[in-house]
Amino acid sequence: MFDNLTERFSSVIKTLRGEARLTESNIKDALREVRMALIEADVALPAIKTFIERVKERAVGHEVMDKLSPGQALVGVVHEELVAIMGGDKAEINLNVTPPAVILMAGLQGAGKTTSSGKLAKWLMEQKKKKVLLVSCDVYRPAAIEQLALLAEQTGADFFSAKTGQKPAEISTAALDFARKHHHDVIIVDTAGRLGIDEAMMQEISQLEQLLKPAETFFVVDAMQGQDAVNTAKAFSEALPLTGVILTKLDGDARGGAALSVRHVTGKPIKFAGVAEKLTGLEPFHPDRMASRILG
Ligand code: GDP
Repeated sequence: MFDNLTERFSSVIKTLRGEARLTESNIKDALREVRMALIEADVALPAIKTFIERVKERAVGHEVMDKLSPGQALVGVVHEELVAIMGGDKAEINLNVTPPAVILMAGLQGAGKTTSSGKLAKWLMEQKKKKVLLVSCDVYRPAAIEQLALLAEQTGADFFSAKTGQKPAEISTAALDFARKHHHDVIIVDTAGRLGIDEAMMQEISQLEQLLKPAETFFVVDAMQGQDAVNTAKAFSEALPLTGVILTKLDGDARGGAALSVRHVTGKPIKFAGVAEKLTGLEPFHPDRMASRILG
């Protein structure tokens, strides 16, 4: 990452040569480069503004150590701040409750909720040795329920079948009872998504959240959405006490700017990244790797 960034900054960095300390005026051009890189990575403007301010605050007055060139010092600050703004160390999933721990999946249709529910079940079974129950509350799309049932079959997770005509609240409380009786450690609740933000959908999921008191309420968002992810993230974080984000489709050609924007808007850590369509394509999110991708 330092090589990539150094390449990008090479001409600007030369102008910093010989400076003993970083000042507002001598880092101006370099910061313009950072800003351009973030715009190209599709980061939302308010997030860029906050970020540049933070870098400026830390960099100005920064004494340049013997071993580093002033340019390298600035690159270091940019990288560190990028990692910090995305949450610093990787954020662990919270299952620290009396079982079953409920994980509620929220997001727009097509974001990757159902697929991520299946992937997460697999990850929890394999990496954390948990007994997982999958339940679908997407009563409007029978295909989505079938998709989740199939994912349960493929991963070996249990699947809770709702009765026809049951409402999401009824399904999830019945599933919770079932999970208690059968000693499941985790219950993953997939919810209905719409193509756009919609009052009825927000009310429904907010009611589910109050009923289930999830250990994790994940906002699932497609990295390819770029700046559009901002409005969706805002609406969901206002309607729900989110605890984390799952950023999907990072295997596509998205530059990853959504990571920064979504973090900025929700203030919540990105806990997982979707990196392939297949069931093994979910990984804990690493802010440092994403920093390299954004600035690369
Ligand atoms: P939902 O409507 O939010 O439940 O979305 P789905 O889980 O049905 O996902 C929508 C589409 O995105 C499906 O074709 C998934 O295979 C695909 N998808 C989800 N996550 C990823 C990912 O991380 N990478 C790739 N390449 N495709 C994904």
